[in-house]
Amino acid sequence: MKTSILVLYTGGTIGMMRDAKTGSLVPFNFDNLYDHLPVLRNLDYNIDFYSFENLIDSSNMTPEFWISLAGKIKENYDKYDGFVVLHGSDTMAYSASALSFMLENLAKPVVFTGSQLPMGMVRSDGRENIIASIEIAAAKNQEGCPMVPEVSILFENQLLRGNRSTKHNAEHFNAFVSGNYPNLADVGVRIKYNTEYIAQKTTKKLIVHTKMNSNVGILKLFPGITFNMVHNTLRTPEMKGLILETYGSGNAPTTEWFINELKAAIDNGLIIYNVTQCKSGSVEMGRYETSLNLNKIGVVSGHDITTESALAKLMYLIGEGYSREEVCSWLQVPLRGEMTI
Ligand code: ASP
Repeated sequence: MKTSILVLYTGGTIGMMRDAKTGSLVPFNFDNLYDHLPVLRNLDYNIDFYSFENLIDSSNMTPEFWISLAGKIKENYDKYDGFVVLHGSDTMAYSASALSFMLENLAKPVVFTGSQLPMGMVRSDGRENIIASIEIAAAKNQEGCPMVPEVSILFENQLLRGNRSTKHNAEHFNAFVSGNYPNLADVGVRIKYNTEYIAQKTTKKLIVHTKMNSNVGILKLFPGITFNMVHNTLRTPEMKGLILETYGSGNAPTTEWFINELKAAIDNGLIIYNVTQCKSGSVEMGRYETSLNLNKIGVVSGHDITTESALAKLMYLIGEGYSREEVCSWLQVPLRGEMTI
């Protein structure tokens, strides 16, 4: 039987064209992928294409859209060997992280890809990215199991774990980085799979979680941050979880008012997750005096998780309805390979 791949199109630069009136890029409907990429007929797979009705620039991405995307994958899970998601690059790392938590026991490839230049442009990186993503989603090992049974991001010549990725470049074709985890595959003349870093295929049944809770926030530290800024952020109504983007290995000001504010919020039930602003390396609370206090008042270490993944993980765990203590303990455990402890 032929390998079957479903390509899901959500919007983004890859399928954009210039609006004649405004001159800005707007999404258009692909309708049939083969019309745009006839070369796909040379691949011996069944490739089906699904386009979401409301195609979006990924800056308009929402948890509701993630739920539709997860639902489409669930609906088609048994019919296809792998999935490719065409998505804008701006929030791709958030979506790939979210889907990794939403799709528990995923045993098939879900490859996110996009492009920096629209498909219609002569030098577009979109064509290569789509073709490589389809090949990766279809790839099987000698036992007939998928090579990459997890959520990943393919951009230019690298396949990265989705929940380890960050968009770090707005211009280069190599737009993503995974500072704390090796590439799952390197795309060159051949696609070289780094199997020791790829998740093992599970035999458990897929569980799709769709209760993402958006009552979370991010507070990025900077020299000169004011009392009002911290105070008001911590008192955001309904907020249940906050990512504190700290310096270096998880460090923050030792100023009394700052620590007191955080402590009061934690005592009030807020979960504060310590994630470093650095693109690689890990939070090590207690290594410096400047993180010792955070540890004492109950800030939770994010180890080497990315902000994108931390946000998705908080939304997922809070959405699942776990108690505060349970959320705090799951936050420190790798659930989908998103952190190293
Ligand atoms: N603004 C676009 C988006 O994220 C950029 C891209 O597709 O790469 O949808």
